[in-house]
Formats: sequence, C-alpha cells, structure tokens
Amino acid sequence: MRCSENKRSFSGKLKPTWCKGCTYFIFQKVLNGLLQRLNYDPLSTVFVSGIGCSSRISLYTSAFGMHTIHGRAIPVATGIRLSRSDVSVLVIAGDGDLFSIGAGHFVHAARKNIDITVFCLNNMTYAMTKNQSSPTSGFDHAGSFTPAGNQTLPLNTVEFAICCKSSFVARSTTFTPDHLEKTIIRALKHRGFSFVDIVAPCRTFNPEYFPSEKQISIVDVNETMQFDMKDYSSALQCASRCIFPSRESPAVLPVGTFFEA
Ligand code: SF4
Repeated sequence: MRCSENKRSFSGKLKPTWCKGCTYFIFQKVLNGLLQRLNYDPLSTVFVSGIGCSSRISLYTSAFGMHTIHGRAIPVATGIRLSRSDVSVLVIAGDGDLFSIGAGHFVHAARKNIDITVFCLNNMTYAMTKNQSSPTSGFDHAGSFTPAGNQTLPLNTVEFAICCKSSFVARSTTFTPDHLEKTIIRALKHRGFSFVDIVAPCRTFNPEYFPSEKQISIVDVNETMQFDMKDYSSALQCASRCIFPSRESPAVLPVGTFFEA
C-alpha cells in the first residue's frame, strides 16, 4: 500500500549481521530503494521470513517484520493476506526454507493464487548452518555433509513454481541490480501469487564454486528464447530448459520472466 505523504525509508534500526560482501546487501538496497521510490508505506507493508541468513531481512526493515519459523513464512503470509486485504505482503526467504521444509506450503499457496509476493534469495546452500547442500545446490556441490560432492541434481525453482500454477514466475540475480529492480516491479504489480527466484550466491561458503560476475554468462530468456510467457505449456517448456546451476553449463544463468497469467 502506498503512502499519501512523503516517501518513507524502509531501512531499519538494526545493522545486518550478514558477512561482509554478502549478496543480500544488494537485494536489500534494491528492494528498499524501490519500495521507497514507489511510495509504499512501511506501516502498510509486511516482510515475512522464515529461518536462515536471508530471512534475517525482516529484522532489518522499518516495515512490519515477521521472522517466523523454518519453512512457515508462506502460511503466516497467507494468514496476513486473508485477514488484511489492505497491506502489502512480501515473503522473503531462502532456497532451503521455501523448497525443502516449506515446499508443501509453496504448492498450495501457489495453486490457490494467494495474493502475496514471494522472493527466494537463492544462495544454493544452507549457509546459516555452515554449508549443507540445499534443494538448489548444484551437482557436485561440496557441502559440509557431502564433502565428496552432492550427488543430487538441483531443483529448478522456476519450473517447479510454474508446475504449482503460480500466476507470475521470474528469475533474476544480484549480479544485475537493474534487471533485479525491473523484475521486482513486475512482481509487485502482479495481483495473485508472484514468485521471483533471485540467484544470490553465498560469498562465505561458495566463493569458488560460484563464479564472479565477470565469469558468469547471464542470459535473458525474454530476449533469447522463443516462447509465450502467457501460455502455460510454452512457459513450462522454456523454464524446464533453464535450470541453474546446470551440470552441463554451470556458468550460464538464465534470467527473465517465465510466466505471467
Ligand atoms: S554465510 Fe553466506 S549467505 Fe550467510 S550472511 Fe554470510 S555470505 Fe551471506
């Protein structure tokens, strides 16, 4: 919901405890700046998060913040939405939170098209507990429980979100703040369940596994692939080819809007 008065800052009083250089600082700066510029009112906005490094963002905002329990950000956000149609409800959580313990909640909120915006800060590991492989870790990811390499292929979050009948599905990354900003704007404008996978690598536990911005090739599917984002089958087919990190091409990151009903 928008303010009627002057634009208000979304920066909170607490200083983030994220590691120096953490990519979440980029997301936070982009999101806070955008909400302020779009004249959102912190007193009519709720950040709902689960548990993990990314989920601490709900402590660092001047908006209402609910730092809930592991995997349960979506049901809490659903409850807020059902009881308060007048507030903006943003879920901000990690890949482990949303797609492991919280995956069942994701499915049902998406298929019921609950009007919330879900941002997955996808760092491809359980960072807070010191680097166990998560649902989105790449094949061969050397986590603390899988030192010889994770032997499971990563979940393709955008494909999963489309299969669950999310009405808006996109992927962006902290590598490209401008693209991230445009994608967030589209997700915020969408009425219904909107999901944005934000690739934001962990700088502490995977500094070598994930390449730097200079080494990664970011491909915008809206410019490079022929598909109809309004058509479910076409979007699903496109998304199924856009897994990240892929075993064959780990340094190619496909971003863009995949589906919008
Ligand atoms: S452990 Fe990784 S994800 Fe967590 S705050 Fe540090 S850099 Fe960020």
